Amino acid sequence: MSYLFPRDMKTTPPTILRGEGSYLIDDQGRRYLDASGGPAVSCLGHNHPAVTAAIQQQAAAVSYAYSLFFTTPVIEELAETLVTQAPAGIEKAFFVSGGSEAVEAALKLARQYFLEIGQPSRHRFIARRRSYHGNTLGALALGGDTVRRQPYEPLLQSVTHIAPCYEYRDRRPDESAEAYGLRVADELEAAILAQGPENVAAFFCEPVVGASLGCAPAVPGYLKRIRDICDRYGVLLVFDEVMCGMGRTGHMYACLEDGVTPDIITTAKGLGGGYMPIGGLLIHGRIYRAIAEGSGALKHGHTYAGHTLACAGALAVQKVIAEEGLLAQVREQGAKLTARLQDRFGQHPHIGDIRGRGLFLGLELVADRESKACFDPAKRIWLKIRQTAMEQGLMCYPSGGCVDGRNGDHIVLAPPYNITDSQLDELVDKLSLAIGQVLGRGA
Ligand code: PMP
Repeated sequence: MSYLFPRDMKTTPPTILRGEGSYLIDDQGRRYLDASGGPAVSCLGHNHPAVTAAIQQQAAAVSYAYSLFFTTPVIEELAETLVTQAPAGIEKAFFVSGGSEAVEAALKLARQYFLEIGQPSRHRFIARRRSYHGNTLGALALGGDTVRRQPYEPLLQSVTHIAPCYEYRDRRPDESAEAYGLRVADELEAAILAQGPENVAAFFCEPVVGASLGCAPAVPGYLKRIRDICDRYGVLLVFDEVMCGMGRTGHMYACLEDGVTPDIITTAKGLGGGYMPIGGLLIHGRIYRAIAEGSGALKHGHTYAGHTLACAGALAVQKVIAEEGLLAQVREQGAKLTARLQDRFGQHPHIGDIRGRGLFLGLELVADRESKACFDPAKRIWLKIRQTAMEQGLMCYPSGGCVDGRNGDHIVLAPPYNITDSQLDELVDKLSLAIGQVLGRGA
């Protein structure tokens, strides 16, 4: 086999031949319930007929018209669809090929904005510890996830990292959720002052932290306080919604639930739903106008930016979400799944927390519930759960905690928005079997 299977070169993964709604089917006829859409990608499941038909139709017309030279109906309609549903003030969309590219573009857009408005000293970025914003070098430097960063340090860009909003571990027992949120948000103000506000371009965070913390939502009031602090010091606010956006939390953008409008939103994953590799930026009118009325050109781009076929696929995915009323379904099925997970694992001695929003749910694994002690990372409990779940015919998305023992291994669940009730039962039963085999059945 010539393809370099990137994460485990000692084993051969199953060979998938077909997708069928919520299932992937391998060459042995085994069916895997896709309860994570890979890493929160396949929001409509597999082979949705309306999406595959739209892609075929576009491919038969034209697959690629370079977006530096031309516009197309699909790029315009997709941009319009995303902007219309975004928080007020977001006026433009720009497309790239994935999440890391979206984050890179946001970094450069923020920098260009300040050059355009005559504040050239603003070149520094602030993000959060234990965050993940992508694997390209700029995005990797932005993220504060030590496991992913360490092999490549020193990184190209120096970024200041403040505390994440991670209630399960960091809220003090005597503190309300709101007080906790304000306390950690205020770390942003301290970081801006330490850098000198005139040097800071933007702050990046995920409204609901996906891969690095396992679906940890911001507590009420946190993002509003972050917005206020950014406004006070003229710093741009970027929400990385690559994982939590595009309906995953039951709202088209996770930040809509918090009532906070950022200056830039990055998106990917659920944008193309796995039917096409595509990412994007949603841009506040203020930023767009500064550039349009200044140099008039975004100093950034890629060969496949706004790829025609990718836009057609993403547009079809977004139409299905609207036409099938899937945002309401995410909220409804998400509430059911949360209740079933609580019911099954709420008292399990090795499940410390069950959290998330919509169909973006995380279970944090602990060696001890009382002390919240993490498992020894060397045990790679998360990997054992993934392998055991796959043997049961279940795809979930477990990840290891950080090496500093400040967050545990966790499992992300991100099933299709159209998952049925009986598939939710199958999900919980299979997950229970996998967790039982690796960690014991619990009480
Ligand atoms: N930002 C976030 C929040 C992500 O979760 C990810 C991917 N897990 C990325 C950026 C990078 O996206 P991609 O893998 O498509 O480059």
